[in-house]
Amino acid sequence: MFTAPRGTLDILPEDQPYWQYLHQEILKVTALYGYQRIDVPIFEDTALYVRGVGEGTDIVDKEMYSFVDKGNREITLRPEFTAGVMRAYIQHGMKSRPQPVKLYTTGPIFRYERVQAGRYRQHTQFDIECIGEMDPAVDLEVMSMAWHLFSNLGFQGLAFQLNSTGCPACRPAYIQVLVSYYRQHEGEICEDCKRRLVRNPLRLLDCKVETCQPIIAGAPHIGDYLCPECREHLDTLRAYLDALGRPYTINHRLVRGLDYYTKTVFEVWAQGIGAQNAICGGGRYDGLAQALGGDPTPGIGFGSGMERLVLAMKEQGIAVPGAPMPQVAFVYLGYEAKVRALQLLNDCRQRGIRATIGFGDRSLRAQLRAADRSGARYAVILGEEEMAHGEATVQDLRSETEARVRLSQSALVNALLARLAAEV
Ligand SMILES: [Zn+2]
Ligand SMILES: [Zn+2]
Repeated sequence: MFTAPRGTLDILPEDQPYWQYLHQEILKVTALYGYQRIDVPIFEDTALYVRGVGEGTDIVDKEMYSFVDKGNREITLRPEFTAGVMRAYIQHGMKSRPQPVKLYTTGPIFRYERVQAGRYRQHTQFDIECIGEMDPAVDLEVMSMAWHLFSNLGFQGLAFQLNSTGCPACRPAYIQVLVSYYRQHEGEICEDCKRRLVRNPLRLLDCKVETCQPIIAGAPHIGDYLCPECREHLDTLRAYLDALGRPYTINHRLVRGLDYYTKTVFEVWAQGIGAQNAICGGGRYDGLAQALGGDPTPGIGFGSGMERLVLAMKEQGIAVPGAPMPQVAFVYLGYEAKVRALQLLNDCRQRGIRATIGFGDRSLRAQLRAADRSGARYAVILGEEEMAHGEATVQDLRSETEARVRLSQSALVNALLARLAAEV
């Protein structure tokens, strides 16, 4: 007996309405904000992610699905979208298009993570990237789009968590201060933090271990060490957010550890979504293009895990439109009636009626039961008696009323169309 690999998810038909709804809302909001779809490969050169995500990150150190292909190439299943999208931007010379280039995508990403609720090793991400513009108004637009999507989806109590992660000009000084602060507390911190202190000190602020929390709370804030440019960028963005009445909290723990992540970093939190409230995270990466060998090009984006969104939608009791049910179910008795029913079934579908039929020549009673269970509004019955008169019985499965309709030509399909039209 096989089961799906640990950390993967079958999305069964009953869950698909959530996904379809999510995709529809993503289509709407990306169109509103002028974002165009891009699709990048599911695997890329391992080196792209090592450079584009960065050594010393959990993703590159522990979580990548990497392998050598039959042509001896080092390949990795994409652990995130930004590096691949930026690679495509550079490769296809998108710098020559009107800037910024506004892109979105959805699809699976792969990380060998500890499995927990809403977190999978293959998970689906909605990702947007806005490349080629420094203006903090772009940060505002990207954040607004996330907000717009989540509020359209029906999430309550939305709030931004916001910070600046500085830039290569100001961050090193902050890291020095942070490291010397942590050196004073080295005896009190967890094993992971001891490693982070050496490899990636900014990640110290991410630690979830209980005993590390008071140390994080007392740590110096990057906000006090920003250079004038980073300070102005943050202040301007805050003024824009205020102007739009978008609530945000400055969260000093929100930082990203790599050189090419710059300035704005944000999350969107929604009310009552388990212990971890973030439904989306993003930020600026003005140094990424250069890290990948391109010209200096600013960019900002966010990603949102769609499995987590679906889980959160369920937890918040958000109703989504159901999957379309069949409208008509054909029920027949005998060979001749079955052939006629198959023709009519085909006619119905050609005319846009969602129609179904029972297979396997079961009894009339069994077929009617199945028709009822299918959710169909009407059963069209071709029994012995009906066939003898060249008619069919159209039974309304909701009101349990019925009528006889001629089988000739398209009389039946027209009668069904009329009834279905009258329903709405
Ligand atoms: Zn700076
Ligand atoms: Zn720790």
